[in-house]
Amino acid sequence: MFEDAFKLKIVPEGLEKDAAKTYVPGVRSALYKIYLSASGKALLSSIRYHGYVVTIIPYLDSDICGADVVPDYDQNSGIVMPTVRYSPDKFRVGGTCTHLPGRGWGESIFFHELVHALRDISQSKRRDYKGVVMSGGLYRYDNFEEFIAVLCEDIYVSERGNPHALLGDHRGIKPLAPELTGSFKFFASSAMTFRYVDRFCKENPGFTKALSQVRARFNPLAAYYQDRAKALSYSSQTSAYERDAAGFEGHFFERPRSPTLPP
Ligand SMILES: [Zn+2]
Repeated sequence: MFEDAFKLKIVPEGLEKDAAKTYVPGVRSALYKIYLSASGKALLSSIRYHGYVVTIIPYLDSDICGADVVPDYDQNSGIVMPTVRYSPDKFRVGGTCTHLPGRGWGESIFFHELVHALRDISQSKRRDYKGVVMSGGLYRYDNFEEFIAVLCEDIYVSERGNPHALLGDHRGIKPLAPELTGSFKFFASSAMTFRYVDRFCKENPGFTKALSQVRARFNPLAAYYQDRAKALSYSSQTSAYERDAAGFEGHFFERPRSPTLPP
């Protein structure tokens, strides 16, 4: 089976007969679409490389547009074993995610959740992991893990020729601001952007290098590996500090809205 090759296991947990039967091929088809892209090959190969099986089960709440990753800490090793909850039905006609503008969300959101799973099995997050809360110009990304997942998802969306707009944060579907929509320009999101991308590349060198090779108009990882000094210079621009100053207030006073998109 396709998913066996990538250490993925699709389990129709909690579904009745017919729904259970169609679930596995539905997920497999979404995975295969992801695999057809260079970003997807980088992601699925990285999951295989780390050797732990990632289980995919349905996201059963029928009323909301949702998908997520449930972590399970191994008591002895402290390793996080992820279970991805994802239902392809939500993105089909009559599903709860059909309000999203544009096309291709079923794969983008699945890709996003699989990036979270990769972070878990690559042991970038152990039991003692301290998440970093985003602030300044990046506060709407909420935390470091979401910043990474959204960044990778945007590279994947760009590779596919933008079937929907690139995301500018983790709070909804507000597109990435035009002045940040460029592989180097993205580093001006905040004075901290370079530091966070640098940390991600050091924690996941194999995956980030593979993703940096993806031909996409928007690929900040390619920019990072091509010219670190130039990427850093964008994070040092006045406009990056201005965004941080503007975000300072939002970080403290704007309550996170319930997201339009899955976590
Ligand atoms: Zn997420």
